Amino acid sequence: PRPLTILDQTLKNTENDRRKIAAGECVVHWFKRDLRITDNRGLSLAGSKAKEAGVPLICMFVVSPQDYEAHCTSKARVDFDLRSLQVLKEDLEGLDVPLYTATIEDRKNITSHILGKCKEWGAKHMFCNIEYEVDELRRETTLVKKCLEAGINFVAVHDDVVVPPETLVTGAGKQYSVYSPWYRSWVKHIHAHPHLLAECPAPVTNHSGARQKFTSLFGDSNPIPSTPPNKSLSSEDRSRLLSYWPAGEHEARERLNRFLETRIPKYKDTRNLPGENSTSLLSVHFSAGTLASRTAIRRAVAANKGSNGKLDAGNQGTITWISELAWRDFYKHVLAHWPYVCMSKPFKYEYADIEWEYNDEHFRRWKQGKTGFPIVDAAMRQILGMSYCHNRCRMIVASFFAKDLLLDWRQGEKYFMENLIDGDFASNNGGWGFSASTGVDPQPYFRIFNPLLQSEKFDAQGDYIRKWVPELRSIEGKAVHDPYGRGAMKEAERSGYPRPMVEHKGAREKALERYKNGLGRG
Ligand code: FAD
Repeated sequence: PRPLTILDQTLKNTENDRRKIAAGECVVHWFKRDLRITDNRGLSLAGSKAKEAGVPLICMFVVSPQDYEAHCTSKARVDFDLRSLQVLKEDLEGLDVPLYTATIEDRKNITSHILGKCKEWGAKHMFCNIEYEVDELRRETTLVKKCLEAGINFVAVHDDVVVPPETLVTGAGKQYSVYSPWYRSWVKHIHAHPHLLAECPAPVTNHSGARQKFTSLFGDSNPIPSTPPNKSLSSEDRSRLLSYWPAGEHEARERLNRFLETRIPKYKDTRNLPGENSTSLLSVHFSAGTLASRTAIRRAVAANKGSNGKLDAGNQGTITWISELAWRDFYKHVLAHWPYVCMSKPFKYEYADIEWEYNDEHFRRWKQGKTGFPIVDAAMRQILGMSYCHNRCRMIVASFFAKDLLLDWRQGEKYFMENLIDGDFASNNGGWGFSASTGVDPQPYFRIFNPLLQSEKFDAQGDYIRKWVPELRSIEGKAVHDPYGRGAMKEAERSGYPRPMVEHKGAREKALERYKNGLGRG
């Protein structure tokens, strides 16, 4: 059975036993990628249980450097999470709720550590929000069982998605593997179950002194965990990222407000233009859980006057934005149902036998933004500068990677996780599968982006290119899209901008051949 099914089943099987469990001395919420107080389902349930039982709420955050390695977490992301954790800790202090933190070297010991702490604190009820990656689901399943043996009620709930995975099925009772019908069913389901968008109540303040009591139990072991040396940013990178990406839930909500007030009405027409500041830039907050997608959708619908409370009515900008957020749910549903996508396998088995090039020099030039294709280079340098890149450009560079360079998409997927601040396994895997044509509901393999046409269409004035590729700043007009082919050869040479590393037409033919051959074998 799939890991999520095992977890769901385990929770169901233990339901009766759990009811008999007494209040204990405190209730615990275990924070993971849900670093906020507002509209947090697991935390909210923990808070209600604590209130009902008349005992204090305690929060914990446990991290293992091995998890960072297993997830290829970027330095930027580790830093963002820890900054957000600091904000969370201060907010919890305002509620007199203590936050226990620990760094566990060997991640296999996380479950026993958590269990040990619950026993030590006399906790009989613990809550968390489910993470859908395989190792995390297994960890939660183990904890449900271990806790029950120890007389502790551990509940893991769906929070990271609007509609829980395995809820939406096709007419034939199967998981959807195509986005459009899935999206229609997602909208219909939410309309029929409006509570899915309802705000979860915030936990109430602990009795005064609870924090002090438990802080004395924790001793001094509750500072924000330190960053492992191999995940530390240089101070220059850190201050640059700090200015692009202020952390924590308050910043997330302000960013959402600004987006809803200004940019969302034009989102449908502008979202593909990387040179304009037209998207929400909220992905890092959804990934770190400093904002729930449920909150964002509820607020967007409320701000969309003509929507009548519907997700697919009223302003086109809002409808489109919500449909983009839906992709996030879609890819998490795919991950939960087909966990093998976590294991470096293409979603489509028949694409497992494509012969990839393993060309280190090509890989290096792609990473450094020195391919000689201005739009590709601008995007790759945006990643180097901001640990983020516009969605259209992610598609362009991923297509260029897998099709023009015929590099193994899994290397590109890993590079993104290691460098993006918003790295999210499901969305990243889905995006790479889409672009390399190996994933769920992908581009057909014979649709190969022409970087020049993409550049002319989506960065028509070349603003984005000029912003990120300083060598091309002085090149005027259309030549910026292709300086060597459009009469700006001398300027490009003078500034040291490289010539195109491949010839697109020839590369395209080669890719078509390789994909066809791979399919023949697969
Ligand atoms: P907006 O345009 O404002 O969209 C709102 C939200 O919708 C986003 O914040 C995001 O949560 C969600 N969303 C939008 N587009 C997509 C999409 N195609 N798939 C899934 N969710 C989407 N997104 C990540 O969050 N983490 C990743 O690691 C990631 N890797 C990607 C890799 C590739 C190759 C591709 C093509 C896309 C990837 N995406 C990823 C999706 C998308 O590029 C980003 O979510 C988006 O660029 C974030 O910018 P924004 O917040 O301004 O988005």
